[in-house]
Amino acid sequence: MKKIIGVAACIAYIFVIFELRPATVNAKAAYRAKIYATFLNVRSEPATNAAVTGSLKKGAMVTVTDEKYGWMKVQAGRSSGWVAGYYLKKVSSFTGSAGSTSTGSIVEINYIADGNRTAAATVIADSLRIRSGPGTTYSIEGSLKAGDSVTPLLRQNEWMKIHTNNGEMGWVAAQYVRSGISQGSAIQSVKSSGSVRGKLIVIDPGHGGSDPGMLGTTYNTMEKDLNLETALYVRDYLKAEGARVEMTRTADRKVALSRRVGVSESLNADAFVSIHYNSSPKKVSGTLTFYYSESEDLLLARAIETRLGQGIGLKSNGLSFGDYHILRENSTPSALIELGFLSNPNDEGIVRNSSYQRKAAKAIAVGLADYFKR
Ligand SMILES: [Zn+2]
Repeated sequence: MKKIIGVAACIAYIFVIFELRPATVNAKAAYRAKIYATFLNVRSEPATNAAVTGSLKKGAMVTVTDEKYGWMKVQAGRSSGWVAGYYLKKVSSFTGSAGSTSTGSIVEINYIADGNRTAAATVIADSLRIRSGPGTTYSIEGSLKAGDSVTPLLRQNEWMKIHTNNGEMGWVAAQYVRSGISQGSAIQSVKSSGSVRGKLIVIDPGHGGSDPGMLGTTYNTMEKDLNLETALYVRDYLKAEGARVEMTRTADRKVALSRRVGVSESLNADAFVSIHYNSSPKKVSGTLTFYYSESEDLLLARAIETRLGQGIGLKSNGLSFGDYHILRENSTPSALIELGFLSNPNDEGIVRNSSYQRKAAKAIAVGLADYFKR
């Protein structure tokens, strides 16, 4: 069967091979999601070799009822089946008023991934309320004043989820926040004002051993090798800055996903970063940073993605929700980073160079330092 998906497939692949027992299905509440692949195959089982039972077009809305190995069981109309989670974007439904009515509208969450790569934004209202959710009916959790610096995390219609310098997280009216270039040329610096000193960081080079991950279509580059090379650069940068670093593998060997998570869980690590390279049948290029938990992972993912977007040689495609074992089962703040598409000849040519890998590794290390600035 033709490979049609990116990391979802490769992660599903290693999960299937190395998990001895089937994953327990989480009986999660169903939610609505939107398809954003041009064309997405629906399969009978959560695997790339399962029979194709249908297809979905870009923009189609589905209800996600189950999840397994990074695959989502979706329902559209009367039919249901499994699709790669990678191409689904979760949407949130809420009612505009405090009362629960049946007029709840579906709104798409826009992950902030515009061309403005500054980590900080500035409050431009004299006084700005921080609320617990995206609407005036949500409770007031705090306030900001003009000139205060915040980190934008998500945008949902007129509302923006932000993180303050005091460590608070909440929602504000987006019109009163200007994504600022206020720090001028300092933004271009690869030096963070935060520090990883003393932090315990787990670096996870994806795949390994009999699981090569994705294969480059032009130079046959093996993802597992790039992951390890890049991860070792990340380790070196972090150690040079005084961090304690634990690797889930330092050689070409297979490690179960549960064991990778177990490393950060058992050590009570401060952060977990998984390094991958991507593949897609579409003509796409650049990096993509995944998080699972908005409360635990998003801030870390955002910090790293911001630095990746500041010019490492490939553009950043921003942030994405990713329902992956190593993120979902990890209580440590975690991010999974795809550092380019091995299916794209130009990307593959670039990512094979150690100079690119070092730039990417440096951006990840600085992003981690930014994250710990809080
Ligand atoms: Zn991978």
